[in-house]
Amino acid sequence: MTVELDPMEVMPGGRNTRIPRRVIMKNVLATLKGTDPNDNRVLLVSGHLDSRATDVMDSTITAPGANDDASGVAVVIELARVMSKYKFPCTIIFMAVQGEEQGLIGARHMAEKMKAGNINLIAMLNNDIVGNSVASETGDKNDKTVRVFSEMIPAIENDEEKKARESLKSENDSPSRQLVRYIKEAAEPYTKGFTATMNMRPDRFLRGGDHTPFLQNGFTAVRFTEYNENFTQQHQTIRTENGKDYGDLPKYVDYAYAANVARLNLATLASLAQAPGKPQNVKMKVNLDNLTYLTWEQPSSGPKPKGYNILIRETYQPFWEKKIFVTDLKAELPYSKDNFFFAVQTVGEKDFLSQAIMPVPAR
Ligand SMILES: [Zn+2]
Repeated sequence: MTVELDPMEVMPGGRNTRIPRRVIMKNVLATLKGTDPNDNRVLLVSGHLDSRATDVMDSTITAPGANDDASGVAVVIELARVMSKYKFPCTIIFMAVQGEEQGLIGARHMAEKMKAGNINLIAMLNNDIVGNSVASETGDKNDKTVRVFSEMIPAIENDEEKKARESLKSENDSPSRQLVRYIKEAAEPYTKGFTATMNMRPDRFLRGGDHTPFLQNGFTAVRFTEYNENFTQQHQTIRTENGKDYGDLPKYVDYAYAANVARLNLATLASLAQAPGKPQNVKMKVNLDNLTYLTWEQPSSGPKPKGYNILIRETYQPFWEKKIFVTDLKAELPYSKDNFFFAVQTVGEKDFLSQAIMPVPAR
């Protein structure tokens, strides 16, 4: 594992409305290089280093940011500590970014850099506010699940992708949404009752996060955030008002909860890293019959697949319901394409699974 600082010059003006003067920010990156030189896949897990008080422009006030987002950075550091003891065929980057509160600056820098470098980033996991289990206002406690946010229609898509989505009516099947389904299917079984709650929105009201610039640059990215948020502690200047204590202090963090979020991230990264790459060129023949005919090609990188799962669900269902294992590069299924959604994923040794890929309709 190598560790580096990735500096960037940030200037005021334009979209940088929260930057009053020129500043050098530095992302911190730890890279666990993959062992297979032919495997160009990259996984990225991220949290943000900066924090804020009530006034986002106050750069000298005490702003401990224990939950937002030291909790996410703690997840990233713990994953780096644990995973650095193991070897994976593909590369895993552990990242703590700067300037999230000032406009997603560090994350945008990295997303643009990875796009310009044509990096095969297959999944970006953003951990932001993952250390609290009790809701302000209602007092509801839930330490058994974390929300995973994903976009509906991809932030950018080319003409071909748009055409395929409109033809399949697959607006509930963006690559990011498939990643959440993957987290539920492949990672949840390792976390002993701690679950991922699929939130079918890219983020919460009035909020943004570091996964967004990655989505805008065409990558697959999701956001982990606690199920219940405590708005008395987040983005608040430390003070007592009407007998109520405000501020993002360490004493309000649920550490066991953050540890479970780390476990879910770990299982996701380790599963994807050990799986073969995704199937290529997945196609579905569209004609008037009650069958579904799918074809695909082998993955272009990653460990050798031992076969493929065809995933099937009713059009009204959020999660895959049926799974058919095949060793061929095609399948004819006695299921009507009008009644079901389909996807294909590769299956590797020890049954590690790739991300699921929706077919492109073809005549
Ligand atoms: Zn945050």
